[in-house]
Amino acid sequence: MKYTQIERAVQERMRPGHITALGLLGDDQRPVADIMQADSEAFSRLGMDFDQVADLLEHLRSAGQDGLGEPITVDNRYLVSTGDARGVLPCPWNDGVHHKNAITVQDQRSGRTIIYSDLSIHLLRVHHFCQGKGSPFRLDPDTLAAIL
Ligand SMILES: [Zn+2]
Repeated sequence: MKYTQIERAVQERMRPGHITALGLLGDDQRPVADIMQADSEAFSRLGMDFDQVADLLEHLRSAGQDGLGEPITVDNRYLVSTGDARGVLPCPWNDGVHHKNAITVQDQRSGRTIIYSDLSIHLLRVHHFCQGKGSPFRLDPDTLAAIL
C-alpha cells in the first residue's frame, strides 16, 4: 500500500528507541494502517467496541491502583498490579503525552494476561490501534474478548 507522509512519520515513531525502547510494533512487519484495519475487523467480528474495552481497562487501572503496587483482586475475577515509572510517553500521532505506567491484568477465569499503559488505553480509544504483534503491550483482540 502507499503511505501518506503522516503515516510514514507515525510508523517511524513506533520503531524501537523512539517512544519506548522496544517500540510499539513488536516484530510486526505490516504497515500501521494494515494492522489497524485487521484489528478493527477483529473487533467487529468479536462484537467488541473500542470505547467499551477502553472503559474496562480504565476501570481495572483505577481499581488496581488501590493495591499501591501490590497485586489486588478486582471484581472477584481479575488480579491487577500497577507500576509507575517517572515521566511521560508521547503519542506517536503527536496529540499529547501519557503517564508512563504498566498495568498487568491476569484474568482468573480465562487464564489470560494483558499488560498495558495509559498510552495503550489512549491508542485503543482514540486511534483504534492495538499495537503490533510481538509488542509486549499489544492488546490482542482475541485476548481482550476472552477477558471481557
Ligand atoms: Zn494520540
